[in-house]
Amino acid sequence: MWTCPSCGRSFIYNSQSHSCNLVSLEMHLQNRSPEIVALFDMFIARIRDFGEFKIEPVKGAIILRKSVAFITIRVQ
Ligand SMILES: [Zn+2]
Repeated sequence: MWTCPSCGRSFIYNSQSHSCNLVSLEMHLQNRSPEIVALFDMFIARIRDFGEFKIEPVKGAIILRKSVAFITIRVQ
């Protein structure tokens, strides 16, 4: 396991390519319609039925991760 010294995110592979530009989840969802926010919340709740995971919001995407990223969400 490798932890990026810049952003603190952990990865399986050393020096794995990634974005260090962490943002807040709120930043992704601000100015979105209530329907989009509700859909996002429902989607996250549904995925949690399969187990816990970490949400890593970075610029341009929301990444769902266990030991590796398994879903990338781009809210538009
Ligand atoms: Zn980083």
